[in-house]
Amino acid sequence: MVSSMARAFVTGWPIGHSRSPLVHGYWLKQFGINGDYLRHPCKVEDFENFIKTFNTNGFIGGNVTLPHKETAFSSIEKTDATATRLGAVNTVWIEDDEIVGANTDGYGFMANLDEFVPNWSDENRLKRGALVLGAGGAARAIIDSLMQRGFKRITIANRTLIRAVELREMFGEPCQAIAYEDIGDAEKQSSIIINTTSVGMAGTELESDTPISLNEFSSDTIVNDIVYTPLITPLLHEAKTSGMKAVDGLGMLLHQAVPGFEKWFGVRPEVTKELRAVLLADLGEVS
Ligand code: NAP
Repeated sequence: MVSSMARAFVTGWPIGHSRSPLVHGYWLKQFGINGDYLRHPCKVEDFENFIKTFNTNGFIGGNVTLPHKETAFSSIEKTDATATRLGAVNTVWIEDDEIVGANTDGYGFMANLDEFVPNWSDENRLKRGALVLGAGGAARAIIDSLMQRGFKRITIANRTLIRAVELREMFGEPCQAIAYEDIGDAEKQSSIIINTTSVGMAGTELESDTPISLNEFSSDTIVNDIVYTPLITPLLHEAKTSGMKAVDGLGMLLHQAVPGFEKWFGVRPEVTKELRAVLLADLGEVS
């Protein structure tokens, strides 16, 4: 039986850790919408069928996470410009009886910085450039956003150099790829450093590490860590003690959810201090 309640999903494998139901559940309650947002675990072998038919199973749309973002892109005919550039989809909905896919990770990244450091992409900072640590899926969306914002120089540093080189080839100018040990004077002028690696994440053997030392960077450097467990990673702690502007990754998670909710339920929600406090409490952090 198909439920009359509007239902959206987050699908991945595994999916039990996802905080997205908490975010969308908060907004559904806030707006008094008769809807639901559910975790839908989906194995790799079942995903293509699921994503092509979710609308016949009572869903109005949803979010797609690891490891399915690329398969979602190749399974859906209509995708927005960002998803098309990245070859990865994280949000789907129905428009004129057709499934549409978008990628909102980069939007979430930028909206978080716009909220906490409004001048993060002013002319001077665009010229000084950005240093991106890591070359995985999140780095891709972030590099794309930095290019859309107009950063004149984007250096991708990664443990496995070849993965950084692949991203440099994918994006072209103004990106360059280097190994961590080759971070030099030019990179130390960067106006922003973004950690997209899992280094510093709680519950891993890397939880007390930082991907690089911030020693020789200018004190006006913005440091953004997209890892949000813990909220203040060792890298952000070092940034704070060096007098730098430290921006955590929780806002990226919250802001990337906004466009999807609007598509499914017809209201554009806001990322508020209250919502952030709900998530912080769930993460065991003090707001
Ligand atoms: P991914 O595709 O698996 O990439 C992982 C990256 O971390 C790679 O660059 C990898 O380097 C690097 N790395 C892993 N272990 C390392 C180590 N010991 N030393 C140095 N580098 C190491 O993962 P992803 O999807 O990009 O996600 C990366 C992180 O971002 C995760 O912690 C994830 O939770 C977080 N994230 C946050 C948000 C948000 O909304 N805030 C959104 C997306 C992701 P190699 O290439 O050398 O392996």
